[in-house]
Amino acid sequence: MLQVHRGRPLQVGDFVGVEALPHPSRPMLDPFLVLHHVSTTLAPGTDASQAGVGPHPHRGFAPVSLIFEGAVHHRDSAGNDSIIRAGGTQWMAAGSGVIHSERPPVELARSGGTLDLIQLWVNSPARDKMLPPQYWGLEAADTPLVPAEPGVALGLVAGRYSEQAGPIPTQSALLLLRGTLAAGARFDWAVPQGWSVGVYVLRGAVQVGEARIDAQQLGSALDWSGAPLDITAEADARVVLMAGAPLAEPIAAYGPFVMNTEDEIRQAMRDYGNGRMGVLAE
Ligand code: MN
Repeated sequence: MLQVHRGRPLQVGDFVGVEALPHPSRPMLDPFLVLHHVSTTLAPGTDASQAGVGPHPHRGFAPVSLIFEGAVHHRDSAGNDSIIRAGGTQWMAAGSGVIHSERPPVELARSGGTLDLIQLWVNSPARDKMLPPQYWGLEAADTPLVPAEPGVALGLVAGRYSEQAGPIPTQSALLLLRGTLAAGARFDWAVPQGWSVGVYVLRGAVQVGEARIDAQQLGSALDWSGAPLDITAEADARVVLMAGAPLAEPIAAYGPFVMNTEDEIRQAMRDYGNGRMGVLAE
């Protein structure tokens, strides 16, 4: 059975939302480190160059943005410049280090509008933490839907499911689905035994076995039994379904860096300070 908790209030730059991971009742859902749900309204006439999150570095994991409403303009020190809209996903394997910014596109900031998105931090295994950085911008149209009954529209971002493969290559075995369930729709979700599993609800509500998960709540479990999760939407719902094989490696984390040892964190800070993660102009 899933354990359910509500995300804590959060502010990231001028984006408001909730933090579902880490959380006192679920400090970590290995390999998923952080789950932030940003749900915020931009006033008309917002200055895009100041909105959202300005340039900052990462090393050692993949920050992933799942956009449900609005759009995000990603730029990074590796030269990527990518606007992804509702239904799409931005996946950056930060590897040895990259600086990025995540802001609303100019036209969305000017007109004003709603942003509804998830930021998920997926840890990298030790062997891959120092690979060169990579970025994938995945539009809704590039995200295959998994076979399901009418009323279920779940895009497969990463991992293998039901003979399909998600477009994003991952560094460890995991599965990431995102989308909607209409009220009353049902989805039987197969998750391998021993994996971590999480069901986050952005809006609406779902029942998963005996557990009810309302908006801004995460249902999660470690070391899953292997039984299928029986998911029924109690109301039209936006959801993220995540599961992964635990890395079970030591973690040393400081701000935007997630490594295995304190020495590696100190090295990351030195490398960033010395400009070895590149440069990104405001
Ligand atoms: Mn970031």
